[in-house]
Amino acid sequence: MKAAIVHAFKEPLSVKEVDKPVIGHGEILVRIKACGVCHTDLHAAHGDWPVKPKLPLIPGHEGAGIIEEVGEGVTHLKIGDRVGVPWLYSACGHCEYCLTGRETLCKEQQNAGYSVDGGYAQYCKADADYAVKIPDRLSFEEVAPIFCAGVTTYKALKVTEAKPGEWVAIYGIGGLGHVAVQYAKAMGLHVIAVDTHSEKLTLAKELGADLTVNPVEENSSEFIQREVGGAHASVCTAVSKPAFSEAYAAVRRGGSVVAVGLPPEEMPIPIFDTVLNGIKVIGSIVGTRKDLMEALEFAAEGKVKTIIETRPLEEINEVFESLENGDINGRVVITFE
Ligand code: NAD
Ligand code: ZN
Ligand code: ZN
Repeated sequence: MKAAIVHAFKEPLSVKEVDKPVIGHGEILVRIKACGVCHTDLHAAHGDWPVKPKLPLIPGHEGAGIIEEVGEGVTHLKIGDRVGVPWLYSACGHCEYCLTGRETLCKEQQNAGYSVDGGYAQYCKADADYAVKIPDRLSFEEVAPIFCAGVTTYKALKVTEAKPGEWVAIYGIGGLGHVAVQYAKAMGLHVIAVDTHSEKLTLAKELGADLTVNPVEENSSEFIQREVGGAHASVCTAVSKPAFSEAYAAVRRGGSVVAVGLPPEEMPIPIFDTVLNGIKVIGSIVGTRKDLMEALEFAAEGKVKTIIETRPLEEINEVFESLENGDINGRVVITFE
């Protein structure tokens, strides 16, 4: 099969023929039709984070396709089913986190396109218990970004505990942010979109953002405090340390700041303001299988629509370069004929 492979950090990926994965008990083989390109894949290829991915690595955790083989012991999925292979590739199923609906915190978890090979390939194997079915109404291309960008931002919005009618500021209107705006609107929230690229703010407006602000042109937190008295919550998906400080300063008293973006830096938090203003600062990592099913349902109902550009696997290095430069509006999805 054809796959894009990271052999060394910060080196271009090579696209070449490798062996098809062999499945075992409880696993499925998925013929990948589409796989979104998440900024996390760029962090993986650069070795940005304290925990490094396996090498060589086939990245990709927004892979969507058709089951071609099912392993022994798999009873709830069959050949021909349409599924996606998310970041939460597998978890132990019996730790305190798995038992309490917090499987994304499982210490034994495997991650697609990080600790195990992912969807930048014609085939990807998956743990049948963690692959999630794709609703009939959605094409592979349009659904792929829901498997990370969708579920992650939907879950982050739940974590804010913002109520319908309240204001949420979304920092970073990229792959994650452009669906975050739509989930927030569908959840009855008022949205302020923040990005340093004006064309992303134009897209945010089209997708329903009530207000937009570009931190290059004006101080975003001052704007948000002045216009709406501070957001009830902010969700920061930007790969930028200053954006986290702005997202913090944008919330009103009692507000919550949900960290989602993963720049490999510290997040400076003033202790005095946090205490006096009762600010909650919370990290949010992807979402559970149940969150993913809900996130998919919003898309199937047409309430969230991914803005995608499809590209062949051979162009992955150019796609990475555009992503790094912030030149992608929406999500790039790799497609396989
Ligand atoms: P992306 O590159 O598509 O989007 C990032 C956006 O941030 C871009 O639109 C960029 O213009 C904008 N931006 C850059 N600097 C900014 C600033 N100072 N203020 C406001 N906006 C700014 O990336 P993505 O695929 O959406 O991923 C974003 C981040 O989220 C990455 O770090 C990724 O690893 C992380 N991530 C986290 C989770 C999770 O579960 N927590 C899941 C997926 C991705
Ligand atoms: Zn991702
Ligand atoms: Zn567990």
